[in-house]
Amino acid sequence: METDHIQMLLDIGELNNLFTGSISIEAFLQKIVELVASHMKAQACSIYLYDESTDELVLKSAVGLDPGAIDSIKIKLGEGLMGHALQEMRAVCENTGEGNSISKFYPEAGEELYNCYLAIPIARGSTKIGVMAVQRGGDNYFGERDVMALRATTSQLAPMIENVKLLMLRQEGEDKKSRQISFEDLRFVKGKPASSGYAYEPSVVLQRDPMHIYLASKNPEQIFTIDDFQLSLQKTESDLERLQAQVELALSDAASLIFASHLLILKDRGFTGKIRLLISEGMNPPQAVMEVYRGYREIFQGSENPLIREKVQDIEDLCRRIIDNMYREPDDESVYQGKIVIARELYPSDLLMLSVQGISGVVLTSGGVTSHVGILARSLHIPAVIVDKAELLEIPEGTKVLIDADLGNVYINPSPEITGKFHERERAKDDLLEMTDLLRRPTVTKDGVTIRLKLNVNLLSDVSDEVIPAITEVGLYRTEFPFLIRNGFPSEEEQYIVYRKLVDMMQGKAVTFRTLDIGGDKILSYYQFDREDNPFLGMRSIRFSLFHEDIFAQQVRAILRAGAGAPMKIMFPMISSIDEFLKSRDMVYRCIKELAGQNIPFNDSPEIGLMIEIPSMVNLIDDIAAEADFFSIGTNDLIQYTLAVDRTNERVAHLFLPHHPAVLRSLKMIADAANSAGIHATICGDMANSERYVPFLLGCGFRDLSVDAIYLSRIKRVITETSIAQAEEIAANMLATKTVEEITAIIGNRI
Ligand code: PEP
Ligand code: MG
Repeated sequence: METDHIQMLLDIGELNNLFTGSISIEAFLQKIVELVASHMKAQACSIYLYDESTDELVLKSAVGLDPGAIDSIKIKLGEGLMGHALQEMRAVCENTGEGNSISKFYPEAGEELYNCYLAIPIARGSTKIGVMAVQRGGDNYFGERDVMALRATTSQLAPMIENVKLLMLRQEGEDKKSRQISFEDLRFVKGKPASSGYAYEPSVVLQRDPMHIYLASKNPEQIFTIDDFQLSLQKTESDLERLQAQVELALSDAASLIFASHLLILKDRGFTGKIRLLISEGMNPPQAVMEVYRGYREIFQGSENPLIREKVQDIEDLCRRIIDNMYREPDDESVYQGKIVIARELYPSDLLMLSVQGISGVVLTSGGVTSHVGILARSLHIPAVIVDKAELLEIPEGTKVLIDADLGNVYINPSPEITGKFHERERAKDDLLEMTDLLRRPTVTKDGVTIRLKLNVNLLSDVSDEVIPAITEVGLYRTEFPFLIRNGFPSEEEQYIVYRKLVDMMQGKAVTFRTLDIGGDKILSYYQFDREDNPFLGMRSIRFSLFHEDIFAQQVRAILRAGAGAPMKIMFPMISSIDEFLKSRDMVYRCIKELAGQNIPFNDSPEIGLMIEIPSMVNLIDDIAAEADFFSIGTNDLIQYTLAVDRTNERVAHLFLPHHPAVLRSLKMIADAANSAGIHATICGDMANSERYVPFLLGCGFRDLSVDAIYLSRIKRVITETSIAQAEEIAANMLATKTVEEITAIIGNRI
């Protein structure tokens, strides 16, 4: 190495003293680039820091380049010389600046003046920190010795630069927090209802900082011992066990196993052993936890297996808990109590956690919301609204927010007139208590016709003592919920436990199990669905089950076993042909045969039916009525597929019309076919939850309605106030229309 290069290393060593001294971090970085440029006889030298949250390199310090470019030049990993150097963790040297596909110029930095580049990654182990680059003009090419010298420099500087980076990130985080935003145009935001009800409470934004920013917010000067780490592990374990017990108490589903994998990792000696080793080598315990987290993340993220990639989330949650407990900042669960939580998106398991913590409402600001979060919110009685306004995430904690989830409205700091209106509604809610009495009475129309009122179950907590006397059976159990709110596919045994609990709770009343209905917008966090251009028309629902026969068979076996000695029904979602129904039914027959050969109690004669939710089945309705034991009509999907309107797309929501003449006539055809075949047809989609459609449905000939628990009393009241003669007249009028306009004229504001 040339003497000048050796001198550079010595000078860099001196910089250490500067860093621990009093100069600002910006001035410190500036000193480095000046020193390196001068020793390497480079016209320009720059330092880019890597932002893990955006996967970008950001220019933080430079000589020989336009100072205005600092903070504004951002380079994606794998882009340009710097991006390649860091992604591939190697030196990148280019002595022409032209004709190289990885060369990317940033004219705003004045880089076109230089044609010789050398970029070296700044890293500590496998941790990416940034890139240092030097540039020269003319034929002052960089050679092997320059590469060696700059490499030695960056490795010496890496720990210091990493500290600088953490400090800068902390500063940026604080700046962001203190930034004021104007709420004038945010006083009223129109969104989409996801779960009904209303709430007027202080808000809290749930936004998880990326792990490195989170750690940067902790005091690096606070030094911990191995004993502190040990105590924090014990505390973390008992916290997790307590949370698990709380969820279990609130919701009896196997859903509560959401903490199982956290506990498993915590008990893994490999995990805690690695942390202990680093601590014994002198590392501060929070840093040691972070270091081991990074190692796991690197391994898991690189895995082909989506189930393993998903584990990064668990490791991250766990490491945060351990670090928080060390700083004695236990995740204060009361933070969310009584609050309206504003979040970009939530997984079903997040919502479960928040419900246990007693939140009052939810506002979600991203389109990345599945209909299951809405359905789950309903089961948990949490009003929820989906809005397309990311600015809501900037609202200061404690801002009073009113959400009217019936209409999808969100008010920020609402006026007294608006809050007054909602308090009136609160009083009206008390009247609903009187409905308990109504729920006990038989469900008959004004002219004495008995209607079978059934219950939709998403979570076992939907079944309560008040509800059971009011219903004839569970008309729809969405079995995907135990799948959705967990971290992995539940085993046959785990499914059996949940299903059997429901059967027992129903005390002899039938349960209609719908087999797994995932895909479309119902995504399992732990299963990597292949990207599809039209997921609603893709590998959804029964197609998924028929494609993954092992998962399907496991579920059917669990259902049959759960139904031992009790009345039960099985139905398949999204059936599009008679062939598909027969194939699915064959799976049930196959499982019955299999179970018969084993010494396990099970139900060998379930009623087997299907969901009518695809228009092709309406065209084949008489033929399928001859095959199936019963129908269940999923109006949400039937409307979506009949009218070609994505049920989750806000932009076409005005076209999602249950009273479209084509939908109404399809429903009439289904009712007629079922009645002539002598089988029951239950409406279980959202149309049955709406008082407005009940007369039409009864008038068509439907005698079975399956509704969500919160709508039971309202629907029952409408049934008792309607006579079949009246209903038939209403239905006949509606069925005689040809256009949406006509139908709106007939029914006016009743719909
Ligand atoms: C429906 O489509 O109406 C239905 C009941 O099923 P889900 O809403 O679960 O798709
Ligand atoms: Mg459906």
